Amino acid sequence: MAYQRVEIGPEQIAAQEAVCARLRAHFTAEGKTPLALVDTYGCQQNESDSERVRGYLAEMGFGFTQDEFAADIVVINTCAVREHAEMRVLGNVGALGHSKKAKPEQIICVCGCMVQQPHMADKLKHSYPIVNLVFGPHELWRFPELLERTLAGKKRVFAVTPGDGNIAEGAPRQRDGWPKAWLSVMYGCNNFCSYCVVPYVRGRERSRRPEDVVAEARSLVAAGYKDITLLGQNVNSYGKDLGAQTDFADLLRMVNAIPGKFRIRFMTSHPKDATEKLLRAMAECEKCTHHLHLPVQAGNDRVLREMNRGYTAAQYLEKVALARRYMPDLVLTTDIIVGFPGETDAEFDDTLRLVEQVGYDAMFTFLYSPRVGTRAASMPDPMTRQEKQRNFDRLLEVANRISAEKHASYVGRTLEVLVDGPSREAGMLSSRTMNGRLVHLPGGEDLIGQFVDVKITGSNTWALRGELVK
Ligand code: SAH
Ligand code: SF4
Repeated sequence: MAYQRVEIGPEQIAAQEAVCARLRAHFTAEGKTPLALVDTYGCQQNESDSERVRGYLAEMGFGFTQDEFAADIVVINTCAVREHAEMRVLGNVGALGHSKKAKPEQIICVCGCMVQQPHMADKLKHSYPIVNLVFGPHELWRFPELLERTLAGKKRVFAVTPGDGNIAEGAPRQRDGWPKAWLSVMYGCNNFCSYCVVPYVRGRERSRRPEDVVAEARSLVAAGYKDITLLGQNVNSYGKDLGAQTDFADLLRMVNAIPGKFRIRFMTSHPKDATEKLLRAMAECEKCTHHLHLPVQAGNDRVLREMNRGYTAAQYLEKVALARRYMPDLVLTTDIIVGFPGETDAEFDDTLRLVEQVGYDAMFTFLYSPRVGTRAASMPDPMTRQEKQRNFDRLLEVANRISAEKHASYVGRTLEVLVDGPSREAGMLSSRTMNGRLVHLPGGEDLIGQFVDVKITGSNTWALRGELVK
């Protein structure tokens, strides 16, 4: 699995920016502002990648829209983790037939993890002729060049060569989440959990250099960002490919040392690699939130082994206990897959027991979805969809009850929150506590980006409700 590090240098990015300048002249001819719609599916890494797509598009002179009928370019950044996400993408790509008919010169691009799978690229090639450009995650850095080629030629462009991935520093980025920012520290995954497609589509683990991560964090703080999430499929592997001079705990301390008032979060941590050194760093870094997203996936040892997770339920529970010793106020969240091939009802009961024992603040629960090319996809899977759904519903009931109980225990407390945007309810704002709990509060939009004290007055399964303390 030796990975040959591939770095896309500043001169290569500069060449892409030169393409952006040429395309700007093309798209803004006659003084108009062209519009782009960028639609993102899936995880935070994809959100972060879409910011790079938008960065390039902004350099080409594009403004942004949510209306596909107004868009000159549509970019759909896809997810491959579950079939459901792929079905939604295909449905929405198909629906673009209407806007393309009304506006035949519209350029439709599909990128991201889904198209990195050869069978999906083929499907787009043969069944979705409205799509002009398809490119995988490893080609993102050269989106301008691919777009120029799409415009120049009569042929559709497919750039989805298999590969281990690269690191591209210095590409433009249009952030849209202020006061929150994503900061990728590494890309790819080497874990090959038997159900998961990520290692096949995102390539091998590769870490950005610590100095590049810190420089980006510094510039985010200088630009007024208040909540920085360090991203990676398994941040605990950070640095291994760099010769391990700096591991993730060291990196956390380096970012924490940047002056200014801001919060640091990170995701995702793999339980097998969550070290005591990391937990100590979390506890000691005053800017680091005491929130650990520690996906357990299942509570039964046979299932965990078949999943290739590299830990037992007991080892997982030990990590949780250790983390809570370092951080008694720890907020713990997790991911769980229900209906892994061969999982029996009795094995699933072990998951329920573990969930009760840990008492998660929030859980993300998924029905197993077979992924082409993964080991689990060829395992016998006798349980029916209905039986799996029944277990899923049982898990959800337990998860919701525990979350509601945890949330109720906040009522009456006064906590500092960062107001991060308007909430869907008119006149209400959305905010987060230091440890990541969602709090809705009444207030004006002038509070967005500020740290304020809030008294918690109510709660439900998903959120807290509070009032500003004057
Ligand atoms: N790297 C992260 C997240 C990977 S994908 C991690 O390891 O935690 C996010 C979640 O999707 C996983 O934690 C898992 O619970 C779920 N998932 C991944 N593959 C899946 C599949 N084939 N079917 C159902 N859920 C899946
Ligand atoms: Fe997928 Fe496992 Fe890697 Fe997470 S750690 S991305 S679940 S293979």
